[in-house]
Amino acid sequence: MKAFKYHAPKSVDHAIDLLKGADENTHVIAGGTDIIIQINQKMIKPEMIVDLKQIDELKYIKEEDGLIKIGALTNFTAIERSEIVRGKAKVLSNACGEVGSPQIRNLGTIGGNVVNASAAGDSITALMALDASLVLRSSEGERVMKIQEFYEGEGNSQIRKDEILSEIFFVSPNDNTLTSFTKLGKRKALAIVVLSSGIVLELEDDRKTCKDVRISLGAISRYSMRARNAEEKLIGKELTEENIDSCVNEISEMTYDSVYNSPFQDLASYKGTSIKGVVRKTFTDILERV
Ligand SMILES: Cc1cc2nc3c(=O)[nH]c(=O)nc-3n(C[C@H](O)[C@H](O)[C@H](O)COP(=O)(O)OP(=O)(O)OC[C@H]3O[C@@H](n4cnc5c(N)ncnc54)[C@H](O)[C@@H]3O)c2cc1C
Repeated sequence: MKAFKYHAPKSVDHAIDLLKGADENTHVIAGGTDIIIQINQKMIKPEMIVDLKQIDELKYIKEEDGLIKIGALTNFTAIERSEIVRGKAKVLSNACGEVGSPQIRNLGTIGGNVVNASAAGDSITALMALDASLVLRSSEGERVMKIQEFYEGEGNSQIRKDEILSEIFFVSPNDNTLTSFTKLGKRKALAIVVLSSGIVLELEDDRKTCKDVRISLGAISRYSMRARNAEEKLIGKELTEENIDSCVNEISEMTYDSVYNSPFQDLASYKGTSIKGVVRKTFTDILERV
């Protein structure tokens, strides 16, 4: 392995100072669970590494001004166990609890999951359903963008080399909102996602009618995707079997089309059918709590 410069700043200000003028050979490390593999496999050849692990100011979960805010360096175990997240955004605590093994959940961070931008990123599906926003910081200042926007355009994501992801936040779901996440993997332990769904569903006060719903699907395309046409099948409607069926069928068709038009065309029928079970399970978990 080629020698590289290694820095371990203890503050965000120091980190972004080190990243001034960074080029494609400069890399940030958080938990290292993705990037160390990429270095070992020579997929990347860093000349400078900025290790964020010691920046404690980026490790937090708090509820403030109607928002749930999570520091990018927070690991999956902390999020899975957080009372705030479990109480208000089960979709995210479930998703974080599904990542890898306990060791990976202790090391891996939510920021690393978002920036690594894998089609298999479990927290990304949950964050899409929560319509989360991301805070990116550099020596030039701060940018805030919706997670969906982060994955649009060229390249893996919209982060620049001189930036770090510092925070992820979303509107704190109200008492009428129920959320859930389901992951289909090949085996129980350490399974990389085959399909996943995250649902955030707000009910009217009658507790029968869907006021708003956001459904996000993982591993049906390059990035997690919102199922907007399927959401339309439920918004303003009662949560009857028939209306849920219509939503699930729309998701099945969307999944088939998306996978068919990807390099994994052979999996279109399998995923188009299996997603029905995954989404139904997510709805069942929500409906049991209505
Ligand atoms: C055995 C194994 C099993 C796994 N299972 C799963 C799984 O089930 N589900 C899943 O979603 N993932 C899984 N992963 C992938 C991985 O653990 C996650 O993607 C994890 O969240 C990465 O976080 P990290 O902190 O380790 O990131 P790192 O590896 O440190 O970094 C990943 C990328 O993000 C960048 N980065 C990290 N933090 C920041 C930041 N704050 N600002 C800017 N850039 C940043 C790095 O430069 C790098 O490009 C698995 C990995 C392994 C090795």
